[in-house]
Amino acid sequence: MAKVAFIGLGNMGGGMAANLAKAGYEVRAFDLSQPALDRAVERGAEAATSAEAACKDAEAVVTMLPAGKHVAEVYRSTVLTAAPKSAILIDCSTIDVATAKAVEDEAGAAGFTMVDAPVSGGIAAAEGGTLTFMVGGSDDGFERAHPILEAMGKAVIHAGGPGSGQAAKICNNMLLGATMAATCEAFVLAEKLGLDLRTFYDISSKASGQSWSMTSYCPVPGVGPDTPADRGYEGGFAAALMLKDLKLAMEAARSAGAYTPMGGEAEELYQRFVDRGGGTKDFSGIIKMIDDSWEVPAESAK
Ligand code: NAD
Repeated sequence: MAKVAFIGLGNMGGGMAANLAKAGYEVRAFDLSQPALDRAVERGAEAATSAEAACKDAEAVVTMLPAGKHVAEVYRSTVLTAAPKSAILIDCSTIDVATAKAVEDEAGAAGFTMVDAPVSGGIAAAEGGTLTFMVGGSDDGFERAHPILEAMGKAVIHAGGPGSGQAAKICNNMLLGATMAATCEAFVLAEKLGLDLRTFYDISSKASGQSWSMTSYCPVPGVGPDTPADRGYEGGFAAALMLKDLKLAMEAARSAGAYTPMGGEAEELYQRFVDRGGGTKDFSGIIKMIDDSWEVPAESAK
């Protein structure tokens, strides 16, 4: 099986690298954090002493790093000089569209094929190999990245040319942030108007107010399917990461000249929630901020 260099073995990359190793790939892993590297070795990867060493002779390079500046730094300083030109380069981090395009352009000019392939799904999906990948790049890049991404996910979708994976990811998450905030508001208002929350859920989930935030990720404990709301808003998708994605969306909207008032409102709300200490809570926990006095009526509790 192909040799894959994997750089960035944090919350997401750790599980993804383990799934590649499980699928039979020869994974050469590198992370600045020794504990992260040790965990990857325990889970089937081979430790590389540096990012350069990981890239040497690699047939593919996968990166899962915090933000655009890390991605630009790692590719410019290491990957584009240390990897063979025949290697397919795959960045799975969530970063700004402009940096994604710039790094892909530089990779292309240096003779590489590179794709951006950000993910939908959190730590549990990274562990379980059930991520959805949104891929930006050429048809050839998509074809070459596909088997590697398939070993880490349940769906691999070609979004378009360079940067399109990042564009799809932030448009989706802007919509998610706005619908979650609106869903929380609707539940708070429903409660204040004396509605039984399960009854409101039964009505709205079958009416025109229905959304994924309502029916798959209900922010009210004891209502709808089991969600982070039922676990005190722990686990799930951290509000700080939702804020990061909303900031990326607003940055892209400014540079594209798009009018996104609802996205802007969602960004402000999540900024306030994070400032008040909600950053590590699941993003549906914003319902607590929308109504500080919120208490789930006893009859709605599971
Ligand atoms: P993380 O901070 O847990 O992991 C990032 C890892 O990169 C760390 O282990 C860090 O040591 C390493 N790193 C940083 N700079 C490096 C360098 N120069 N060389 C080698 N290693 C380096 O972050 P995460 O939660 O795994 O997220 C990774 C990416 O995935 C982010 O872009 C995030 O927005 C995106 N994402 C996260 C989630 C989630 O639920 N955590 C969901 C979807 C997308």
